[in-house]
Amino acid sequence: NTEPEKADLQRIITLMDGFRSSKALFTASKMGVFDLLQKSPGLDASQVAAEIKASVKGTRCLLEACVSLGLVTTCEKSHQKPVYKNSTLAAQFLGSDSPFSLHGYIMHTDNAVWPLFSHLENAVREGTNQHEQAFGKKAQDLFQDSYYNSQALKLRFMSAMHSIAKVTGKAVATAFDLSAYKTACDLGGCTGAIAYELTKANPQMSVIVFDLAPVVEMRETFQPQHMDMDRVSFMAGDFFKDDLPKADLYVLARILHDWSDEKVDILLEKIADTCNPGCGILLSEIFLNEDRSAPSRGLLQALSMSPGRQRSAQEYCLLLERHGFTVKDMKYTDNLLDAMLCLKI
Ligand code: SAM
Repeated sequence: NTEPEKADLQRIITLMDGFRSSKALFTASKMGVFDLLQKSPGLDASQVAAEIKASVKGTRCLLEACVSLGLVTTCEKSHQKPVYKNSTLAAQFLGSDSPFSLHGYIMHTDNAVWPLFSHLENAVREGTNQHEQAFGKKAQDLFQDSYYNSQALKLRFMSAMHSIAKVTGKAVATAFDLSAYKTACDLGGCTGAIAYELTKANPQMSVIVFDLAPVVEMRETFQPQHMDMDRVSFMAGDFFKDDLPKADLYVLARILHDWSDEKVDILLEKIADTCNPGCGILLSEIFLNEDRSAPSRGLLQALSMSPGRQRSAQEYCLLLERHGFTVKDMKYTDNLLDAMLCLKI
């Protein structure tokens, strides 16, 4: 038996410890450590503990773990206690007001995804979502039966979607030349984050955000300041049941992976029936490799066992072609989501 390579050993350890890293990040976010250090850099462990109302021992362990993960930096003034501040990474992504804050998504992952993953063995054995085991209630439709059950849950989910959409929205909105499209409809457009990016990148375009009524109700909470608001409007409806607004371009960002092929067929058929030849679909999802070997982010998401499926670009093409759409262009964006532009023949 030859000794293992150092790099291999390190890789396995990183995987084994992955859950500890995630939970340390979630906990520090939830307890407001990054917001505190953003506002008051240079606090020592007991000052942080007092502010976040936690034990000094626990806070010191959490801060030291965050230093080891590159989330917090420390400096030790001679003979004094070490003091802490956010790393560049934390300043960019982890404060609630950071420019690319992922705080909302982190809270959603901790509260809504972590409990599902603690039932992963069952999920794999049964091939089903473990919502009932994790939360004590069945959820036929995750949005209408779970995320939108209370105002607090709804806001948490919307903040999660908003934070990812803010990080990825520009890459999606500028992936292709959309100057030919005057009207767009963002189906399941949630807080409007992608719609605002589309109008910013396309001065000729107005966008209707179409989403369920409980979501549209909250639109003002997420409205950006200093934006030309006239070109983004909201419409409440169910995209499986209600008529869709007429538009030149339909946006489907992080929608299709939530649904089975049968449901996707219903939605694409509705779009095809509503739009004219030459109209477009801007699809944005994680596109799996054709051999389904990467990226892990998509494959790990699939372990939640929602009724949907993570698909490759080719699988999306085949679904779209069934409804008369042909792929005009495709882009792996190097951001969290990839993009595809399709045209109705
Ligand atoms: N497109 C947004 C983005 O990329 O940030 C949000 C994606 S989120 C995963 C799915 C969205 O679809 C939610 O805003 C949800 O409310 C909406 N949705 C789910 N079922 C729907 C339905 N039947 N009709 C309309 N919208 C729906």
